Order: sequence, then structure tokens, then C-alpha cells
Amino acid sequence: MSEVVVVTGGGRGIGAATARLAAARGYAVCVNYRSDEASAAAVVAEIEAAGGTALAVRADVSGTAGVERLFATVDAELGVLTALVNNAGVLERQCRLDELDEARLERIWTANITGPFLCAGAAVRRMSTRYGGKGGAIVNVSSAASRLGSPNEYVDYAASKGAVDSMTRGLALEVAGEGIRVNAVRPGLIHTDIHALGGEPGRVDRLGPGLPMGRGGRPEEIAEAILFLLSPASSYATGAILDLAGGR
Ligand code: NAP
Repeated sequence: MSEVVVVTGGGRGIGAATARLAAARGYAVCVNYRSDEASAAAVVAEIEAAGGTALAVRADVSGTAGVERLFATVDAELGVLTALVNNAGVLERQCRLDELDEARLERIWTANITGPFLCAGAAVRRMSTRYGGKGGAIVNVSSAASRLGSPNEYVDYAASKGAVDSMTRGLALEVAGEGIRVNAVRPGLIHTDIHALGGEPGRVDRLGPGLPMGRGGRPEEIAEAILFLLSPASSYATGAILDLAGGR
């Protein structure tokens, strides 16, 4: 019986690298995306061309309707869920906290906090031995921003990732006796499209040389750690938060 993983935001960036690596390791992969159908379809095509199993599912995971439909589709099309990567996340234009308005805060909290909470709940109801499941693993994609605070960029984003860190600890302890491990990765500056949302597509090129390791990271370097935390190789790790930030 194959492992089945949902990767939220699996069409681009860190999620796409994670989906490809999971498939190469034998997982049947649900590549969730919100709107960029072409990118998600390309990831699925690449996985299938390599002999793997993948399914693209369009769903906004920041609300119950999208999350319920996503997981129901996986139940029907891929089989018993064994893993979740809570990867989907957004940020908005760089600014100071005193320039943030309520509507933006609502968007950031909903996408980066409500989404991972709802997806984790849906996964626990399928994987926990408490519900008759066979166990599994959850990896949350937080950010180095949660410990740096992202001053003059996006304190709202940083705070949302702080919530992800807290959820990682709390949920890990809730389900530790139910066959589910919950861990997180905290990437630093990684070469993906997300920085364009902040208004600075070249942010990693600008800041990378000043980092202790002298460069930004690649999505594949984050995917390796995520797959480690999903796999039995990390069987005694739960509630752990792994910094992957080149020393930042
Ligand atoms: P990215 O390249 O912008 O990709 C984000 C993905 O998330 C896209 O596939 C997007 O879907 C999807 N998505 C966003 N909101 C969604 C929603 N509500 N429902 C479903 N899918 C949604 O970003 P990335 O850099 O790979 O970021 C992935 C994660 O890593 C995020 O949680 C981010 O905060 C975190 N992270 C990134 C960095 C970095 O430097 N890149 C550093 C630390 C942490 P579409 O393709 O349909 O738009």
C-alpha cells in the first residue's frame, strides 16, 4: 500500500520541489494549488513521466469548503491519507506595521494560519488512531520570519508563522499518542516566486550574499528536510522545528 501525501501549494516553489521528491520516494502525491493550474499540471506531468502517481486539485485551503473538498477528493482518488505538508502560504507588499489595515491582516491570518489549522484537522481525522486511522505525519512550513519578526517588511507574515510554530508544538503533543508526528521546517531566504508578492522579486539575490553561507537556498534543499520529517527516518521526532536558513 502506497503512502499518500497532500502538499498544499504544491504547484510552485517549495511545494513543487516537495511534491516531486515525495513522488520519487514512492508517495502518491496530491498537488494542491489555488489558481495557477498550468504550474500544478506541469508538476503532475513531470511526476507521471517519471512513473509516479500524482493528482492536481484546485482548492483554496484557507476555508472549510476548499479543505473538505480537497481531502474528499484525495480519499476518493488516491486512497488512505498518510501525510500532509502544510506548505501553502502568502505574504503581501513590504511595509511597516503602522501601515497595515484590517483587511490585509485578515487575508494573512486566513491564508497562513486558518489554512494550516483546517488542513491539519482534516488530516488528523483521517490518520489518528483515535478515529480508526493508521497514523501518519504532518510537516508544517513555517519561516525564519517567525524568529526574526520581519521588521519593515511584513510583521504580519512573521506573526502568522509564529502561530504555525505554536500549532506545531501543540498539535504534536495532542496526537503524539495517536500515531501522528507533527514537525515543522523554518526556511530562510529561498529562491521562489513568493518574494515578488512583497514587491521585490530579487530579494534573495540582494540579501543572499550577506548570509552566513553567502547564498540563498533552493526549494529542493527544503524538500529534502520535509521528506526526512515525513519519513520513518525521523520516527522519534515530533514537535520539532528545523531551521533551514543557511545560518541566518
Ligand atoms: P510560492 O512560490 O509563492 O508558492 C506558493 C504556493 O502556495 C503556490 O502553489 C500557490 O498556489 C499556493 N497557495 C497560496 N495560497 C493558497 C491557498 N489559499 N490555497 C491553496 N494554495 C495556495 O511560495 P514558496 O516560497 O514556495 O512558499 C511556500 C511556503 O514556504 C510558504 O508557506 C512560505 O511562507 C514558506 N516560506 C518561503 C520562504 C522563501 O524564501 N521562499 C521562506 C520561508 C518560508 P498557486 O500556484 O495556484 O498560486
